[in-house]
Amino acid sequence: MEERIYLSAPHMGGEEINFIHKAFDENWIAPLGPNVNGMETDLAEYAKVPYAAALSSGTAAIHLALILLNVQKDDIVLASSFTFSATINPIAYQGALPVLIDSEEETWNMDPELLEQAIKDYSAKGKKPKAVIFVHLYGMPGKIEEVSNICKQYDIPLIEDAAEALGASWNNKRAGSFGDFGIFSFNGNKIITTSGGGALLSQNKTWIDKARYLATQARDPAPYYQHSEIGYNYRMSNISAGIGRGQMQVLDKWIALRRENFNFYQENLGSLGFAFQNERPGAFANRWLTCVLFDENHQIGPEELRQNLETFNIETRPLWKPMHIQPVFKDCDFYVNGVSEKLFGKGLCLPSGSSLSMGQKQLIVEKIKQLVQ
Ligand SMILES: *Cc1c(COP(=O)(O)O)cnc(C)c1O
Repeated sequence: MEERIYLSAPHMGGEEINFIHKAFDENWIAPLGPNVNGMETDLAEYAKVPYAAALSSGTAAIHLALILLNVQKDDIVLASSFTFSATINPIAYQGALPVLIDSEEETWNMDPELLEQAIKDYSAKGKKPKAVIFVHLYGMPGKIEEVSNICKQYDIPLIEDAAEALGASWNNKRAGSFGDFGIFSFNGNKIITTSGGGALLSQNKTWIDKARYLATQARDPAPYYQHSEIGYNYRMSNISAGIGRGQMQVLDKWIALRRENFNFYQENLGSLGFAFQNERPGAFANRWLTCVLFDENHQIGPEELRQNLETFNIETRPLWKPMHIQPVFKDCDFYVNGVSEKLFGKGLCLPSGSSLSMGQKQLIVEKIKQLVQ
């Protein structure tokens, strides 16, 4: 059996271990410490957003953003339907009601027109949405400027879920820097990893200070443990942040490698009738995952290809199943146009890690060619 080719394997640059050694030498094993501060500074500088809080996950970052915006039971939160469940779950943690917004065809991300329709409808019913959560799927910048303008026009705060889009940009402005909040994830299969972690970013210092306080069990400034609010254990550890600091040094290199993967697949599979998630002028995608779309002329569909590639120990994955057709969110209201369901039905994510070798990529393309034509 060939060595397994993963969808998106962690890829260390080499310096990570030195940050961890330093933490051991200084006995900064416990939560917080210099690596956490360093990671926050690195991220804020990279994303060009002044304040960042390093957290235990991207999910925690979205949850804290909702808490800071005072999202409560039965409040309406409008969110991208074409996403991973972690975008929506924190809305449910607050007892609020997710309303799921479908994608537009061009970038696969939230359709600004559907968003505006939902805002108008809910406002007319006297239930003005409390927040919008916009996702840049697979690292492709969506119509964030349009969405940001709509949010401003209706005075609704915007949370930008850039969990998959660290390093992507729209008109030279980083994904994660458009919203009132930006969030990133450093989960194991994201473009860089801390073995598990996330971050919350904002222009607003008060919010990020409050996020750090809530993420460390909401301790009042007192010599004993006193609490006036419900807190959370959501901070990133100093060891994880050490991995993150090393990863930040190679982030741009890893993005370049993922973009090379995309170009390789497009060059070698484009002629076979596959379609790709394209960058419109002004968009810079980090190409976290390369996805191909099948058409009717292919001999087999995405699921059959996935199973066949699995027999060669090549991992691929269907596109995200839209949240409005997930059993757990079946009671949620939604605004759909068929785009995300269509993408889900005919797409497949190919191995996209920055550590893929040319030999592995050639093998993947060769197998796909054999199987689909
Ligand atoms: C990975 C991901 C998250 C959650 O991040 P975790 O760090 O795994 O909690 C949120 N939204 C999207 C779109 C993601 O892909």
